[in-house]
Formats: sequence, C-alpha cells, structure tokens
Amino acid sequence: MKIYQHYIDGQYVDPNNGQWIDSFDPYRGTAWAQIPKGCAKDADRAVAAADRAMRDGPWSQMTATARGKLLFKLADLLAANGRRLAEIEVRDNGKLFAEMNGQLNYLPEWWRYFGGLADKIEGAVMPIDKPDVFAFTKHEPVGVVAALTAWNSPLMFVAWKCAPALAAGCTVVIKPSEFASASTLEFAALTKEAGFPDGVFNVVTGLGAEIGSALVDHPKVAKITFTGSDATGARIYAQAARTMKRVSLELGGKSPNIVFEDCDLAQAAAGVVSGIFAATGQTCIAGSRLLVQNSIKEAFSEKVAALGRAARKGDPMLPETNIGPVTTAPQYRKILDYIDIAKSEGARCILGGGPATAPDLPGGQFVEPTIFVDVTPDMRIAREEVFGPVLSIIGFEDEAEAIRLANDTIYGLAAGVWTKNIGRAVRMSSALKAGTIWVNTYRAVSFMMPFGGMKHSGIGRESGMESIREYLETKSVWISTSEAPPAHPFVMR
Ligand code: NAD
Repeated sequence: MKIYQHYIDGQYVDPNNGQWIDSFDPYRGTAWAQIPKGCAKDADRAVAAADRAMRDGPWSQMTATARGKLLFKLADLLAANGRRLAEIEVRDNGKLFAEMNGQLNYLPEWWRYFGGLADKIEGAVMPIDKPDVFAFTKHEPVGVVAALTAWNSPLMFVAWKCAPALAAGCTVVIKPSEFASASTLEFAALTKEAGFPDGVFNVVTGLGAEIGSALVDHPKVAKITFTGSDATGARIYAQAARTMKRVSLELGGKSPNIVFEDCDLAQAAAGVVSGIFAATGQTCIAGSRLLVQNSIKEAFSEKVAALGRAARKGDPMLPETNIGPVTTAPQYRKILDYIDIAKSEGARCILGGGPATAPDLPGGQFVEPTIFVDVTPDMRIAREEVFGPVLSIIGFEDEAEAIRLANDTIYGLAAGVWTKNIGRAVRMSSALKAGTIWVNTYRAVSFMMPFGGMKHSGIGRESGMESIREYLETKSVWISTSEAPPAHPFVMR
C-alpha cells in the first residue's frame, strides 16, 4: 500500500499526530493508499512555511517575469507526467481514464496562461484632480492562500486556484478532499522540480472538519478559495468572516438543460447525456434538470433514455467504459436515497432507478444511469443537487415558461440551451441567471473563460484574466511633490 505524507516547506513530512486514513479505489472497493489525517498543528506548520516564503524568502524578491517562468516550467512538467497522474487519479477517484487523460493534457494550458499573465498585472497612474501630487495604483498579492478542494477533479482545481494565486505572487496551502488527495500530493513534487522556492506551495491532507477548519481559522491565512458543496461553502464563509478573510466559493448546481423543438435533436440528446451521465453525474455543472418543450417531450425523453441505456458501466481504466463508479461510499448512498425520494414523491422512472450490479463491477459503488419523468418543479429531485447520474425531466410550453422554470432554483452555475433560432439563443443567454450559458453545446471550459456561479452556486470567478483579481489587493499610493507651506491640517486634502 502506498503511504503518502504532507508536503510542507519543500519536504514530504509525516503528520504531527502520526495518524493516517485509507484512500479507497472506488472501482475495486479496496484501500490502495493512506494519506495523513492532518491536525491543526500540521495546518499551522504549513501556514508558517507559506507565511515565511511570502515575507522573507526568494519568492518575495522574485520579479513577476521570473515567477511566470516557473509556471511555464511547471506546465511542461505536468505535461510530461500527465499519463502517470491520470492513472493515479483514476485509481483514487474512479473517473474515466479517457476523461482524466484529456484533462491532464489540457491542464498545462492553465499554468501557461497564468504564467504569461504574471507580469501583465499593471497598476495605473491617475490623472489626479489635485495639484502637486503623483498618484498611482498597484496590485499586490493578497498573502497566504488556503485552497480547499472537492474530490471530483482534484488536479483541475489545483490549476484553477493555484495557477492564478502563484502568478499573483501569493503562497499556497492546499487541502484536497480526503476522498482523493493522492494526485495533489504527487503534483507537489513537480513544483519542487520546477524550481519553486520551499514554502511557496504546500499540501496538507485530512478531514475538512479538522485540518480544513484549522486553515479557515488560521490568522495568517489571508484568503480562502473553496470548491465543494454549498452547505460547506456557507459554513466556511461564515467562519472566515471572523478573521475577515477574502473568500471565493465554487459550489454546486441544479443546472437546466433547455431543449426547444427547433433544435438539432441528435446534438441535443448527446449534449444532455454528456451533461448528466459523463463523470457518473459527479460534476458541479451536471445538467440535472432537462427542460424540454412539450411538443417533443416524449420522443426526446426516449432518445435520451436510449443513449443512457447503451452506456457501458465498468472499469474506468478501459477505453470502452462510459460510466465509472461513484467516488465515495457516502455519495453512493446519497444518490440512492435521492432515487427513493423521487419515487416516493411521485416521479416516474423510465431508466435505471437503482444500484448497478454485474460481475465486472467488483467494488459495488455503481448506480444505473437514471431518468425521471413526470417531475414537478416543487419535488426535491428538481430542486436539490444529487451529484450523480440522475436526470429529472420537466416539460414547458414556450420560451417564457422555460425561463421561469430554469431560474426557479437557488443555484446559478450553468445552463444549456438547444435551439437553431439565433434570436432565441441571444434572448435566453440574457434571461438565464447562471455564470455559464452554453448554446448548442455543454460542458465546455477553457483557461481563458471565466467560470463560476451566481446565487448559491458561489462567489467569484476562476479562469480568465479577471480571476487573478481574486488573489490581489489594490493599493493606492499618493506622493506629494509640493514644496509649498503646510496645508490647513483640519480639513480634508
Ligand atoms: P465538500 O463540501 O464536502 O468538501 C469540499 C472540501 O472542503 C473538502 O476538501 C473537504 O474536506 C473540505 N471541508 C469539508 N468541511 C470543511 C470545514 N468545515 N472546514 C473546512 N474545509 C472543509 O464537497 P465534496 O463532496 O468534496 O464535493 C462535491 C461538491 O462540490 C458538490 O456540491 C459539487 O457541486 C461541488 N463542486 C463544485 C465545483 C465548482 O467549480 N463550482 C466543482 C466541483 C464540485
């Protein structure tokens, strides 16, 4: 069994309390590695290293251009190690190798993009409205960043959070999910190889309520960046307020995929399937509410069900597998609970509706791709995030009703629209309250495109130029050039 250690101040080190927790291979259902069950003392050690690096070390003296070059080097190392890291991730969280390998091939672009951005963070000289003053703004790193991440795409979250944070000149302590920490711990070695000074990038592992919470409370952490559930996000937001930390939150969703009768039905069906059954539905952007125009509802539902029925469940390493295991045992139970709730509320199941069993599904954490029809907007299955392969279908009559239903949610992460009518595409993209709108596509992301949620789906944006602002403070500098006698001291200048 592989035994992992924290990565603090450029070294792999044991947890202070000498405790480890098992990390499970969700496909086989067996423990394959152990990760440190870190405590507040480990959090403190990592933050102290990050704080030292922020203030005293070579990092604090480095030019932005030099920082950017380190990010470029890290991008190359990530590319060179992509396949190995993808295999570790599949073992640890059960995502398809095809998906992880694709992700790993693409993630270096985030490091390159933010490496390039590092020395383009410009302040401004103000044409100030007062005589004899030279006034300018500059943008400075916010300080030590604590990053708390979810289990579904760990290395993507490392890139989305740490690339802009490091480009901005911050130092980082990241705590990945206790269900999938291995890849982030492996990644840490690449930061050393790339030449990042000790203490700039640190990884600690363990339970959210223990070491995660200690990071949120830590007085030397200036900023929390979190990806996870909205319940945990709200708790962290309140807790972080006590020490006035800056907070960004990437949370859950109940995203609508809206299908109009005038769309390309084959494209739309494939898009709907990708939105809800890819990654076994364990994505924040899952298009878990299918809103479909009543005139095509029955035929379209059957089309989606046929694609779901044909999806192959199995070993996530194999290229022919479409549906892998659910990553965690609690999540597996939660999905099955929601299926029971939907049935008891009167939704009609037309596909799946329970655990998937077969001899080649050894670990047992498989759920059948599931579709419910006759769902009404008040049902829990239409309102709450399942984070699994469970689709709720709701009919609508016209555009106005589609908009009303789509926006009738506390969430606002993403929405899909399927139509050939360009005017409708533009109207819908304005009317929908969500951070990302996809028209005639779904699940597309890019390093240059801001990503994040409205309403309960979060605060702040990741990726794209504006995301670096999440890791910067603006400082306004006033320098008097006057040699005149002192001004009246009791009035504002
Ligand atoms: P989670 O909220 O249970 O945990 C996320 C992280 O927070 C983990 O590292 C966990 O250990 C830590 N944590 C838990 N309690 C904590 C506490 N009290 N203090 C500090 N840290 C704590 O989420 P999860 O189950 O790992 O992930 C699934 C959720 O993540 C879903 O709701 C999903 O929608 C969301 N998600 C959002 C995005 C996005 O970008 N918007 C992406 C992926 C997943």
